[in-house]
Amino acid sequence: MKILNLLRKEYARVVYSSDYIYGLPSVGDHQTFDIMRFKKIRDKLVEEKLLTRKNILRPYLCKYEELRLVHTDEYLRKLQNPQYVSNILKLDAVNLFYESILEYYRAVTGGTLLATAYALKNNVPTFNLGGGYHHAHPDKAEGFCLVNDIAIAIEKFRQLQRAKRFMVIDLDYHQGNGTLLYFKDDADVFTFSMHGDTWVEIDRPHNLDILLPHACDDATYMTILEKELPPVLESFKPQVVFYVAGSDVYEKDAIGDMKLTRQGILERNLFVYRLVRDRRIPLIVLAGGGYGKDSWEVYYDFIAYCLKNKR
Ligand SMILES: [Zn+2]
Repeated sequence: MKILNLLRKEYARVVYSSDYIYGLPSVGDHQTFDIMRFKKIRDKLVEEKLLTRKNILRPYLCKYEELRLVHTDEYLRKLQNPQYVSNILKLDAVNLFYESILEYYRAVTGGTLLATAYALKNNVPTFNLGGGYHHAHPDKAEGFCLVNDIAIAIEKFRQLQRAKRFMVIDLDYHQGNGTLLYFKDDADVFTFSMHGDTWVEIDRPHNLDILLPHACDDATYMTILEKELPPVLESFKPQVVFYVAGSDVYEKDAIGDMKLTRQGILERNLFVYRLVRDRRIPLIVLAGGGYGKDSWEVYYDFIAYCLKNKR
């Protein structure tokens, strides 16, 4: 059995840390947040023998110098103030959670960095069980995103000269406005976002922003995605792709108003996965949003499939 496991081809890897359960607590304004979402995914993957605990990649906490690659010193100083964090996260009892919440964001960002390093080195698709904080700006938090892990990863690996052309495919229910604005004048980063609500409008050559119809269903969603994404990937020719596989497009999501089924989202995710992997482009997958008690199963389906199947 052990030998069989050793011989088994590695189709995908998973990044997770026990710090990931210290995210926003499900209290007050955050009833829809399932703090155990990613632990549930890890537990089920282990239970189904798709993953062993030994095979999980464990991140370090993102360092201050890494946060500074994107965020301003002034903003990072503000994050040291529990009252500031309390206000932006709308948490009353922030003093109880303050340290752990900051550590949570640093851990998940460390996870995105680790996933990027692994995917670039081994060209094996790597899933972070978290991440995709696409609303965060260099100088302010937004939409419960304190730090922009995607932008930090792109800046870090660009600095290390590990890649030059980056693409972000963001299919979360919400527009990836923080990432979009951050890279708006950057010819080497293409941001593609399809979403149910628009936070900012901007015209530029290196992005594609698509607002989907209200109560969008599987068929409508896939028709638009299949038409819009392949030509962009083909013409931009990224050397690495970050995919924000938000689950809040799910019909059972507690926040989003789309009507995608669980099977429909798996098909969406596999469409992106195959499109990128058929071109042998290193792929980093980030969880993005997903609210309510059923949300975890959506990301689970995607990872489980990719651990079992080559394409
Ligand atoms: Zn979202």
